[in-house]
Amino acid sequence: MQCSKCRREAIVYQRYSGLHLCEQHFNRDFEAKAKRAIREHHWIESGDTVAVALSGGKDSSAVLFFLHGLLGERRDVRLMAITVDEGIAGYRDPDRARRLSEGMGVPWVTASFRDAYGITLDEIVARKGTGLSCTYCGVLRRALMNRVAREEGVTKFAYGFNLDDGAQSVLMNVLRGDAAHLTRPVREVEGLVPRIRPFLYIPEREVALYAFLHVEGFDLAGCPYAVGALRRDVRGILDEYTYRHPATKYSLVRLGEALRRTDAAAGSGFGVCERCGEPMPVKEGKGICRACQVLDELRGA
Ligand SMILES: [Zn+2]
Ligand SMILES: [Zn+2]
Repeated sequence: MQCSKCRREAIVYQRYSGLHLCEQHFNRDFEAKAKRAIREHHWIESGDTVAVALSGGKDSSAVLFFLHGLLGERRDVRLMAITVDEGIAGYRDPDRARRLSEGMGVPWVTASFRDAYGITLDEIVARKGTGLSCTYCGVLRRALMNRVAREEGVTKFAYGFNLDDGAQSVLMNVLRGDAAHLTRPVREVEGLVPRIRPFLYIPEREVALYAFLHVEGFDLAGCPYAVGALRRDVRGILDEYTYRHPATKYSLVRLGEALRRTDAAAGSGFGVCERCGEPMPVKEGKGICRACQVLDELRGA
């Protein structure tokens, strides 16, 4: 198949645009979309220190490569990478992330569950099973990422979150009837490093292709503890539906954004955790943050 824009061989077909693209035109289209998302949200400004939350998987590796290309020449924006080692034997290898960063000349920092919390994810699973391990892990990883980022003077956190992730999240919240999550407004909270998602409007398969074209040695395996039955179902439903209605994932992500923008009044304020001092939403009767609650639960308090 020939590229819709030139005579070269196409490497990808975009159902939603009807275009066949060669490698060069695919890269151009991909990076234009990511840049547009950044511009539209004013995600990167002069003086920013941007940290990629680098797991070493395809999405975060791709976002590191893209941002390195975008920001590498700029003197007014700093780029770095942060990797959290949850402690999963045979899966999480922080060395892989280190090699990826160093290969691009991007400063890299790591932190581990073991050092920060005195417990690894392997031990959490051994104690509590896999049912809640994703939730625990997510809470602890976010809290640790945020703490390290603040110590490093990071002003923006870049995630490899893609269109499929975004659409799945919106649909999952709809299916759970979770109005609070759907309408929680985007806002800046003191001490909480804001997140940016340059690939928010780019389908997962194109992020994967971009990673394959540009990054060597990223991690192909998913987390061995990930269960996420609802997400797996939702992914299946969405993929099937999108085959017939190619704009669906994009529409869902835009819907999610519109809902969050319009409800400025919702939600209570933010305070700080009484124990660890990290920012947390103020809820009645709870003086400690989710991460501290999870740690209490794990330590059997
Ligand atoms: Zn072309
Ligand atoms: Zn806390």
